[in-house]
Amino acid sequence: MKILFAASEATPFAKTGGLADVAGSLPPAIAALGHDVRVVMPRYRMVDVERFKLKHVATFYVPLGSWKERCDVLEGRMGKNVTAYFVNKDIYFDRPGLYGTPRGDYRDNAERFTFFSRSVPELCRVLGFVPDIVHCNDWQTGLVPLYLKTAYKKGTAAAPRAGTVFTIHNLGYQGLFWHWDMRLTGLGWEFFTPEGIEFWGRISFLKAGIRYADIITTVSEAYSREVRTPEYGEGMEDLLRKRSADFYGIVNGIDYREWDPARDPGIARKFSASRPSGKAACKAALQKRTGLPLSGDPLLGMVTRLVDQKGIDILLEALPELMALGVQLVILGAGDEKYHRLLSDAAAKYPDRMHALLQYDDTRARAIYAGCDLFLMPSRYEPCGLGQMIALRYGAAPLVRRTGGLADTVKDYHERTGRGTGFVFDEYSASALGACVERAVAVYHDRKKWTRLMQNGMKQDLSWEHSAKEYVKIYRKAMKKVGSIQ
Ligand code: ADP
Repeated sequence: MKILFAASEATPFAKTGGLADVAGSLPPAIAALGHDVRVVMPRYRMVDVERFKLKHVATFYVPLGSWKERCDVLEGRMGKNVTAYFVNKDIYFDRPGLYGTPRGDYRDNAERFTFFSRSVPELCRVLGFVPDIVHCNDWQTGLVPLYLKTAYKKGTAAAPRAGTVFTIHNLGYQGLFWHWDMRLTGLGWEFFTPEGIEFWGRISFLKAGIRYADIITTVSEAYSREVRTPEYGEGMEDLLRKRSADFYGIVNGIDYREWDPARDPGIARKFSASRPSGKAACKAALQKRTGLPLSGDPLLGMVTRLVDQKGIDILLEALPELMALGVQLVILGAGDEKYHRLLSDAAAKYPDRMHALLQYDDTRARAIYAGCDLFLMPSRYEPCGLGQMIALRYGAAPLVRRTGGLADTVKDYHERTGRGTGFVFDEYSASALGACVERAVAVYHDRKKWTRLMQNGMKQDLSWEHSAKEYVKIYRKAMKKVGSIQ
């Protein structure tokens, strides 16, 4: 099969969150099954042309509104088996951020990602690449399935028979724009209806993906059920329910080469399930690095975008209780200004117990996964979550709320049987979080039990192998459905 994977970020090129991890590891996993997989993403400022040896391969013009914009395409490699294309357009993508700054989104995101989405079928045409499947991801590529059904209808241009798959990585980001941006998209006003891509008076790029893709997926089974309810559906629950027959949940994996404590050069001492002793050195290094006392107290870690979804509010509320339990806490995060402020105030209040690093830093993230005993994800909702899976691999027991992918990937520890890989709580509240940490701390102090728990987690299979095969099955389904969505 020939597959074009369109995403707005992918490791190792550019990353703000989990989507980049998926877009950087799922395509190689599918290619390893013998398919021709290519990735397309924007060439942001942070994508270093020299470091990644990118070469110019095409120039064409993309229709946008009533005019056309020049677009250059650069080509590079993602691992050994995947070709990566970069849509190069400085006025849109040569900026410090991907989608905005800590103050908010870039104001021309509709234009930037309409341009990107529209360049996808154009790029296929110019490069003579005729994919069987175009796999789109999140709102930034939501218009692609619609373009393939309209401007690039069956038989009229490139990708004539391409089936489309649209994966929702996070329903909380919908790509909502004012109605006049319809003119930019080049789509007729007939699509600006509640049955089309209108969402309460605005255009929703996410809705375009959900409405017009042949198959829709999301990144865990639990989240695929949750988003069909008003509590988690963000207003899309009815449409998702309507499309239930074509809607699947496939849990993400993690890239085992990228996240491996036995080979990670960024951590203080390497370790593995069979040789776990290096973990203690990593903990000491993290304590030293963050100025926390070198004690045997349980060290809690968190690596996260600082946004409402992630449960920072209940964590802050539970802090006095947690500190009284005698734990240490290291948080690495970047995002909303209000959380930067609240977290640095909290860290100043508990200087010998808490440390907040308010930035995005891959090396520090690794030091935390490797050095902490417990990894916190008290999320309000979590489509899949990668942090808990990386933590499992690095011998840190995840402590999570039972939602979305957290519910699917972390098994609550059971004292009597010794089964389980972490600690799970249900209610979204500071008291439920506090009680769960208390339970975990009690287990932590029983070293025999703790070692078993750690080993359970480190041995869990979190690789892409199984899920990549599931995606291939989905692609076959999508190919059969080409032309059936009107
Ligand atoms: P989301 O996609 O909602 O951000 P995930 O748990 O799916 O959440 O993925 C988060 C990814 O981003 C993980 O690989 C995590 O290590 C990384 N990450 C998040 N915040 C930071 C940060 N401040 N510094 C370094 N890595 C981060």
